Amino acid sequence: MTSRARLVLNPRACDRCGRCLPACDQNAIRVGRAYIMVDWSRCDGCMKCVRACDRGAIGSAATDAATRARSATHAKAVAPVKSTAAATPRALSAHSVTVGGFTWTILEAAAMLSVTFAAFMVKELFLASDVVRALPSEVVVGARAFALAIYYAVQVVLLRYLVRRRDGSFGDSLGLTRQHESAGDIATSIGLVAGGLVATRVIATVYSMITRSLDLMPSAGADTITHVFGTSVGGLALAAVMLVLIGPFVEECVFRGALMRGLEARIGAWPAIITQAVLFAAFHRSWWLLFPMTVLGVALGWLAHERKSLWPAIALHAAYNSLTVGAVVWLSRGVG
Ligand code: SF4
Ligand code: SF4
Repeated sequence: MTSRARLVLNPRACDRCGRCLPACDQNAIRVGRAYIMVDWSRCDGCMKCVRACDRGAIGSAATDAATRARSATHAKAVAPVKSTAAATPRALSAHSVTVGGFTWTILEAAAMLSVTFAAFMVKELFLASDVVRALPSEVVVGARAFALAIYYAVQVVLLRYLVRRRDGSFGDSLGLTRQHESAGDIATSIGLVAGGLVATRVIATVYSMITRSLDLMPSAGADTITHVFGTSVGGLALAAVMLVLIGPFVEECVFRGALMRGLEARIGAWPAIITQAVLFAAFHRSWWLLFPMTVLGVALGWLAHERKSLWPAIALHAAYNSLTVGAVVWLSRGVG
């Protein structure tokens, strides 16, 4: 290539056959409902995707004559891109916050955060109410888990509503849709998740040791899980389901999905990553947890941004929580 090729994308012509995905050695293409997205920072202009696409959904606007000639037959079939934001060069840039043809707005991010906060407060008030306190001990854990489940369900329902009202796809808009990734990409994601887990856990452990030695560690800080779920086998199993499976999924959708992408559209990637991390930490309602949770939030935000998928962040979040739950189970069983 003597010049960087440009691709002309026509999502309307795409039938999502997926042929262009394995053709792209750079893993630069994403295809979803009503969008085709190219990461220009990865694209080397090889034009393999143009040759793979027999629908005319990807054409070439290459500036050098050779490439133009090669792609001429496709170019005829390609109508000017006119409708979706996902098809404009700006929206398709590597730093675009358009995911799955869906750009989260700052207003939607604020609405998501406000409702999440309101639902959180209602949950806390309910859990602290006399009604719950008066419940028999064998019922109270179930009531707490039920309240937590409702809290998560409210967030998912709102996310789904915000996406569907603009005819978006839930999975595509949040980076949940599975892409055709090479083995190298998957290995990179796994390595980053493992590295992120080690780094965040080491930082949290060092922080714990320092605050404990300075007598700054709150005495009730470590046993929130047993306070909510108890120490019975059933309670700890519920804790594992809520905190390792459901919680990380929903929280990633809210914080690294809607909120971070909405902020990113307004203030840029790194300010958005840091802002959502601080808000994520603040939701844990503990000044002592503010630092380690901000560190975790930054790691999760960076991972979601870097991998352009929410799944690595969900995996890291779940692994991080599983170590916490595992430690609580181990301690409670040991004590018992
Ligand atoms: S090869 Fe063409 S039609 Fe098939 S998914 Fe890719 S862009 Fe769409
Ligand atoms: S031109 Fe080559 S590198 Fe760029 S998106 Fe197409 S196949 Fe991938």
